[in-house]
Amino acid sequence: MRDKLFIDGQWLAPVEGGTFPVIDPATEETVFHAPAGTARDIDHAVRAARRAFDHGPWPRLTGKERAACLRRIAGIILARKEELARIEVRDNGKPLPEAIWDMEDTAGCFSFYAGLAEELDENPEEAIALSEPRFSSKVVREPVGVAGAIIPWNYPLLMASWKVAPALAAGCTMVLKPSELTPLTALELGAIAEEAGLPAGVLNIVTGLGPDAGQPLSEHPGIDKLAFTGSVPTGAKIMAAAARDIKNVSLELGGKSPFVVFADSDLEKAVEWIMFGIFWNQGQVCSATSRVLVEESLYPALLERLVVEAARITIGNGLENGTLLGPLVSRGQYEKVLAAIARGAKEGATIASGGKRPAGLDTGYFLEPTILTDLAEDNFVWTEEIFGPVVCVKPFRDEADAIRLANDSRFGLAAAVMSKDRARCERVARAFRAGIVWVNCSQPTFTEAPWGGYKQSGIGRELGRWGLSNYLETKQITAFEADEPWGWYIKG
Ligand code: NAD
Repeated sequence: MRDKLFIDGQWLAPVEGGTFPVIDPATEETVFHAPAGTARDIDHAVRAARRAFDHGPWPRLTGKERAACLRRIAGIILARKEELARIEVRDNGKPLPEAIWDMEDTAGCFSFYAGLAEELDENPEEAIALSEPRFSSKVVREPVGVAGAIIPWNYPLLMASWKVAPALAAGCTMVLKPSELTPLTALELGAIAEEAGLPAGVLNIVTGLGPDAGQPLSEHPGIDKLAFTGSVPTGAKIMAAAARDIKNVSLELGGKSPFVVFADSDLEKAVEWIMFGIFWNQGQVCSATSRVLVEESLYPALLERLVVEAARITIGNGLENGTLLGPLVSRGQYEKVLAAIARGAKEGATIASGGKRPAGLDTGYFLEPTILTDLAEDNFVWTEEIFGPVVCVKPFRDEADAIRLANDSRFGLAAAVMSKDRARCERVARAFRAGIVWVNCSQPTFTEAPWGGYKQSGIGRELGRWGLSNYLETKQITAFEADEPWGWYIKG
């Protein structure tokens, strides 16, 4: 594990010399002291990224050359995936098989953007047809410049890759600020970039607390683009900080995503996808389908099966064989989730299952998979993101009622629908006010497809070619091609 910041191709102690503890959420033990970067380290990192962008080779390489480096990064991640996954489990708590899957997805993300970097060479410019024959016009795409990335703790290395890979593919340079709850694999990414031969200053990694390192990054005048994933309140601060210098901003924020299950659904498939939609990664997933809406006639049977299956989930340390639900990421998150359940119950919700620490797990931030019912439409747990293994289940009358309830949220990240009637699925999919819609499933995420939300779930899209566009400027080059004079001031 690395105890230095990665700035300008060097491993440096933070200027102020501080550290913050890294706690294993399964044991509550401090496993490491990570370097606490502050405003001066951020300034150093941004200046390095600026030099690398303005004078270094990276933006001037061909897409093919950048792709070769991205593929080397992907290869190293794959070669180290088991080791990196184990670090991720100690940092974040998730079950090891999930962490290994994350590492494969992370490597896949670098490979995917390597392909898109090559495509930039194949399509260096696009001719634009004009209505005026005396002019020609074309469009070229250029890297935005120096990007600042601030990311959360739920998929530490994967969330880094969603920003680092497209930024590097585009030819940008970057300063990455990982979450203080999970800094370890991001620092490893510095070592991986170094080993892959990424030029100094292209990727800089500064760990530290949000207000001490994240805020100075969001306010730094040397940053051209800010890419943020995290909570709505922090997203609002980032946007406000960016407003001062009119920085380009993309935001991936929270959600309270609905899963609409019609009565013609297969009961077992519905139960499994509902569970995958909320218990995977301990429910700490921005797109988790935390509001399940079930057609009235199926509701009693589905709830009964869900309660039985949820109680069967093996809870434990993510490093133990067979664990399917690990601890929540931190004491703060654990207490926040318990407080939300208590508030929901006080506001009239019934705890149909879970809601407390599992028997026999006295240490660690463990919580039983929790199912809440009898939810008023204004109950706190029905309207607010909980970010834990807590699902709210509510019956609905008909399709119109389901759509109304599903869309009645200030969020619009994801939504899911299940029915054997594909025409109905298509109708409901179109009616959802959300950026990601799953049909007959919930959560599978593909690097090729756009990711992001409507409403307060964010601005812009990551992944796919949309993710690359985040880091590209669009320039038109328009030329006067005619021989005759323009003839506005000087008449011929
Ligand atoms: P958070 O907003 O608390 O922190 C996110 C990052 O912002 C961290 O790196 C933190 O250090 C930093 N930060 C905190 N205060 C800051 C400030 N004043 N200025 C600049 N940076 C600051 O969020 P979190 O608790 O880490 O993550 C959970 C949230 O992230 C949830 O709301 C979840 O829905 C969302 N999320 C969204 C997506 C998505 O793709 N839409 C993915 C993962 C998580």
